Amino acid sequence: MKKGTKLYSVLKLKCPRCHIGNLFSNPGLFVFSRILEMPDKCPHCKQDFKLEPGFYTAALWISYPVVLLIFIPLILLGFSLDDLNSFFKYLYPVIIILAFVLQIPLMRIARAILLNMTIDYTKNGNFQ
Ligand SMILES: [Zn+2]
Repeated sequence: MKKGTKLYSVLKLKCPRCHIGNLFSNPGLFVFSRILEMPDKCPHCKQDFKLEPGFYTAALWISYPVVLLIFIPLILLGFSLDDLNSFFKYLYPVIIILAFVLQIPLMRIARAILLNMTIDYTKNGNFQ
């Protein structure tokens, strides 16, 4: 993945400005502790991550369409199955497992997308 793109910052959970500092205190997509704990500023370029009070509430509205993008195709696939029995036998467990497995990565990715919508990449992480 190319550094300098928004996709890099979102998927690697890096600071949207310098793409070097980690967005979360406990880095990685699949973690089980300190899930939403973020430093106040980027450890590398000092970009403020707490832009305003309640800033990350908007991340809910980011994760919602992402969830729809993942689960609507699964539900449509369920409708295309021949009978309801095979839906509950094969697809339903997949949807339940995916919902649990993707919970934490989606919350983190939603925050990264929100920050990337607000802050642009700057080479070397300098202001202007
Ligand atoms: Zn940074």
